[in-house]
Amino acid sequence: MQSSCDHSCNPNSKDKEMEVIGIEGTAWNLSVALFSDEEGVVCEVESPYVPERGGIHPREAAQHHAAEIKRVVGEVLRASEEISGVAFSQGPGMGPCLRVVATAARALSLLLRKPLVGVNHCVAHIEIGMWNCGVYDPVVLYVSGANSQVLVYHFGRYRVLGETLDIGIGNALDKLARSMNLQHPGGPKIEKLAADGGNYIPLPYVVKGMDFSFSGLTTAAEDALRRYSAEDVAFSFQETAFAMLTEVSERAMAHLKKEDLLLVGGVGANKRLQEMLRTMCEDRGARFHVPEKRFLKDNGAMIAYLGLLMLKCGAITEIENSAVKPNFRPDEVEVRWRI
Ligand code: AMP
Ligand code: MG
Repeated sequence: MQSSCDHSCNPNSKDKEMEVIGIEGTAWNLSVALFSDEEGVVCEVESPYVPERGGIHPREAAQHHAAEIKRVVGEVLRASEEISGVAFSQGPGMGPCLRVVATAARALSLLLRKPLVGVNHCVAHIEIGMWNCGVYDPVVLYVSGANSQVLVYHFGRYRVLGETLDIGIGNALDKLARSMNLQHPGGPKIEKLAADGGNYIPLPYVVKGMDFSFSGLTTAAEDALRRYSAEDVAFSFQETAFAMLTEVSERAMAHLKKEDLLLVGGVGANKRLQEMLRTMCEDRGARFHVPEKRFLKDNGAMIAYLGLLMLKCGAITEIENSAVKPNFRPDEVEVRWRI
């Protein structure tokens, strides 16, 4: 269990206005945090699930979260002063994992007699990125394990301008890494291998309008492993996939005349992806923003932060409406806090 509470918690502070506890556990990372409007992230404790082999198994990840959640929430609660609300990741994510988180959040809300706030995980990634980078109206490239989307805020919602037609870029990287017998998560390992590659192997570049696809690319890259080095395959995969993401992000910026691009989600930690996006932005005289690494991956702070924004505008989730939403899309959320 990793904790950032020891030094940053200030349980004796008397002048906090509102403080929300946020519980994230849609997939690999069980992460619980406190966010206050005075101090920002007061405290965050996480317990990542690392599969022994293969990818994330939903039942095993849920069992990990169930075994850890009492301890993780307990540690965060000890650092709290007065909680105003209980936020949780309502979706999208793995059903069994979401149910563990939702059950804990409902129990906590009833116990503390504080409102429950069901949060969309994708919107939370966007909001914490904007908060951390101090940018207000960017085109957003959200790239994580299961999700890959280009979004922009327009008339009360984050609109999805483009997205993957099959698997997320993170899942594609993880799958390619598994074919190389590398342990999950594969993204950082592919990045490392790619740095030692340099021969570009042509791979399927699939952009259809504003959407992209990574499934055929992954299969072709797996196939290429029989003929080329892992380093060159990793390099070529990154160059191809990241060029696709850069192309769609640029088209969104050009059409909407936006001058800011915000990168969020776990794959956003990739330096080559950042470099490509930064170059594209510089070439068009736009600004590129990427939050701190701890806010890129799945984290409880983003759930607590969006929970706070929603609570302040009365977007409370009644227990009877708190069922998990494994396919919860960001454009389903009415963004009342921006209006
Ligand atoms: P998230 O669900 O937002 O926490 O993102 C998890 C995904 O990010 C996994 O698929 C990881 O393999 C991927 N990831 C993490 N770090 C990197 C990196 N440096 N390069 C590429 N992918 C990464
Ligand atoms: Mg995520």
